[in-house]
Amino acid sequence: MSDSSLVRASLAELSAALAAKRISSVELTQLFLGRIQRYDGQLNAFVSIDPERSLAQAREADTRRADGQAQPLTGIPIAHKDVFCTKDWLTTCGSNMLHNWVAPYDAHVVQRLHATGAVLLGKTNMDEFAMGSSTENSFFGATKNPWDINAVPGGSSGGSAAAIGARLAPAATGTDTGGSIRLPASFCGCSGIKPTYGIVSRYGMVAYASSLDQGGPMAGSAEDLALLLNSMAGFDARDSTSLERPAEDYARSLTQPLAGVRIGLPQEYFAAGLDADVAKQVEAAIGEFRKLGAITIDVKLPNTSLAIPVYYVLAPAEASSNLSRYDGVRYGLRASEYHDLNDMYEKTRAQGFGSEVKRRILIGTYVLSHGYYDAYYLKAQKLRRVIAQDFADAFEQCDLIMGPTSPSVAFDIGSKTSDPVQMYLSDIYNVSINLAGLPGMSIPVGFGARQRPVGLQIIGNYFSEARMLNAAHQYQRVTDWHTRVPEWLSA
Ligand code: GLN
Repeated sequence: MSDSSLVRASLAELSAALAAKRISSVELTQLFLGRIQRYDGQLNAFVSIDPERSLAQAREADTRRADGQAQPLTGIPIAHKDVFCTKDWLTTCGSNMLHNWVAPYDAHVVQRLHATGAVLLGKTNMDEFAMGSSTENSFFGATKNPWDINAVPGGSSGGSAAAIGARLAPAATGTDTGGSIRLPASFCGCSGIKPTYGIVSRYGMVAYASSLDQGGPMAGSAEDLALLLNSMAGFDARDSTSLERPAEDYARSLTQPLAGVRIGLPQEYFAAGLDADVAKQVEAAIGEFRKLGAITIDVKLPNTSLAIPVYYVLAPAEASSNLSRYDGVRYGLRASEYHDLNDMYEKTRAQGFGSEVKRRILIGTYVLSHGYYDAYYLKAQKLRRVIAQDFADAFEQCDLIMGPTSPSVAFDIGSKTSDPVQMYLSDIYNVSINLAGLPGMSIPVGFGARQRPVGLQIIGNYFSEARMLNAAHQYQRVTDWHTRVPEWLSA
């Protein structure tokens, strides 16, 4: 296989090439490391790479394959969002607070992928502590969108999405608290799935808002996502919200025809606020699903407008509690000059956190404080239930829900940094899925304004990942948006 076809290949194709000895894992890893060295100066998708270590893992994978012990992902290089702890390897979470922190253990997800023989290709850039929608809030600088380096890649898993969009990595992990897998996948023209809450263990995933955080795979296609999710998902006693369920093959339904599948179209997701260029591509995609035999019906999610306010009470509340652990004693940064213990805490937190993280801690502390707790936090918890009920009602009538992932294509770097509410609204169609704990995914369905990618969001009922991946795969069988690579990166 030529280098340019390897760079475009799906995971299944890479796996087949490795199995047929057309390429070794060492060669494949070198190919992607070479692309990172060549292009990442312009994209800033990676926070750290360690070629020697990656190549050592690749050599192990080659030995394992030679011994007949290979699994589908053995020898395939995969990047991890820098929110996942990687033993003896920097884990920064995009923050000055952890800029030099080396994790003493692997996250469950990292462990599982390592156990299948996947090669750790590097750690990807992200918004600090996963707070953001553009990857501009990283201590390590903004990541650029491979389709247009003046545009953001989306966030917070922007490094993973840019790496895949640019084919600097064939696959990567991400996390999604309120859209952080789906939004960057949509902005960078790749595919990503946030599973049902509890399917992927949060052990070793630096916590943002624990009742919403969920890890998931990002890659070039739904078929690849299924393969990755098969390795990433599974019970883990170390995460108290990990679900104990029988193992599932997420690829089992990929080839099923879509005849008769009922797709719900929430009118609130196509209302004012949705850009016309995005609407056009999303509607064209829904047309393809109809051609594939699916039936579309109108559904209502009447509390959609509450999702952003509810999320921005609950997520900061949980964040303010989770981030209290960064005190200069236990992890990472400690201010170098201080005169007593309190001064050390204050200076460490003042220097260690960026402004968006501080904003969230302030909001979170406020809504949890005595006197405001009932008015904000408790109220938001009640509304969270109401939002989940909207989806339960909608799923009485349909099998899947579809709509845009984001109201616009990727915006220009710097264009929303001074207006946090505008930034928060990028996730208007995403956050309610996390509030409800449902699975959601994004797949590329064309290009909008300035030739920037458009994503279609597919939302499923609890545990319907296989059905969502089936729908996405059937669409990707008859379209080729997911195979496009930006011109300047295609060599
Ligand atoms: N953009 C949202 C936020 O800033 C979601 C981030 C995420 O999913 N991690 O909180």
